[in-house]
Amino acid sequence: MIDRDRLARLLDRERTAFAENNPRSQAEYGKAGHLFGRVPMTWMNKKAAGFPLYLATARGATVTDLDGHEYADFCLGDTAAMAGHAPPPTARAVQERFADGACAMLPTPDAAWVGAELTRRFGVTEWSFALTATDANRWVIRLLRAITGRPKILFNSYCYHGSVDESLIVLDAAGNSRSREGNVGAPVDVTVTSRVAEYNDLEGLERELAHGDVAAVVMEPALTNIGIVLPEPGYLEGVRELTRRYDTYLVNDETHTFSAGPGGATKAWSLEPDVVTIGKAIGGGIPAAAYGLSTTISDRINAMQDLDLVDMGGVGGTLAGNALSIAATRATLEHVLTDAAFERMTALAERFAAGVRTVITTHDLPWSVSRLGARVEYRFASPAPRNGGESNRAADPDLEDYLHVYLANRGILLTPFHNMALMSPATTEAQVDHHGTVFAEAVAAIATT
Ligand code: PMP
Repeated sequence: MIDRDRLARLLDRERTAFAENNPRSQAEYGKAGHLFGRVPMTWMNKKAAGFPLYLATARGATVTDLDGHEYADFCLGDTAAMAGHAPPPTARAVQERFADGACAMLPTPDAAWVGAELTRRFGVTEWSFALTATDANRWVIRLLRAITGRPKILFNSYCYHGSVDESLIVLDAAGNSRSREGNVGAPVDVTVTSRVAEYNDLEGLERELAHGDVAAVVMEPALTNIGIVLPEPGYLEGVRELTRRYDTYLVNDETHTFSAGPGGATKAWSLEPDVVTIGKAIGGGIPAAAYGLSTTISDRINAMQDLDLVDMGGVGGTLAGNALSIAATRATLEHVLTDAAFERMTALAERFAAGVRTVITTHDLPWSVSRLGARVEYRFASPAPRNGGESNRAADPDLEDYLHVYLANRGILLTPFHNMALMSPATTEAQVDHHGTVFAEAVAAIATT
């Protein structure tokens, strides 16, 4: 289906063109010898082209790099900028708040507004804030271990919930639990702290929950970090039923599945989690995250007088809930990622997916495209993978690199970690159609049919 020799030749050609077209970015990368890995954060070395583009400006759904190229940005900061870059209402709120101070260790009235709005959207009733989804997940895990007295947390294989120690567990091909490949400096063997089941596998889930030692299942309602893997009919209902039967709390991490609608997958699919965690997009580009608890859980926590929730008990951070992050979150939820905005974003995502589907059909490729509200992903497998393990095995790094560099050379950015495209309120039909045209050319150049 794909001519691998031609793919290798064209990838080479695209990388050469990328280097020729981006001398300023390449020069900056060359100068960064005092950065570990030459980049501000090591994941910025995930670069299909050999060095990263350097940012000049990002506004709405358009990024401009140091060499002056403009891009239709479907990466959107891997969801951190799902509201679009520098959305004007958020920018104004941030400027105003910062001018009046951000880190006084005192609450502002915005926080209660945000808590009420998050409850309207996600159902759970009591909210607390963090700066990253990683921290929101870590603190929830501590709280749920404390009230249940159970030691383990269950995750889906090849999930991602940030750099949470407990979550770096996968099932190998033989069905054994083990540490995820490349897990850096794990504090203890991950099977001590965690259990794992494949997504869409209720039998596997029940087998693990039956041990009676799982405090919580932490999951994305749909996997989004190993491609999009959607739930099969009855799966999420089954998860809820089993977690209730085995007295295990259910945590929906909505950090990415927020793309499903204004209240994420939780609202879109009428789910009933005990806890919701969310980060990235809610701050409109300013670090912000939150976790929401059911009243039953907050009552149980409050009843445990020996938990130190005020000082050094292991939950919290100095900057969490700071006035700037909260002001940004309020403006983003109130004026940018509104119910109406999600309708537009979802329609754009369907248009994007339809363009990709046409190309797949034209060349009769064994690929698939999945959509989760405003988020679209193409995978080199058909039918679409049913779980994280299958999706992991469907990876094709050369093909992925080729598409990413080909698109970047023609003014389109996808999320660097996979073939994911996200729509923002600022994304235009013209940008979506430009992707369709360039994707069709990129595929035609390597397809054998
Ligand atoms: N949860 C999910 C579902 C995520 O996709 C991510 C990041 N990709 C995180 C948590 C962690 O977010 P952060 O890196 O901002 O802590």
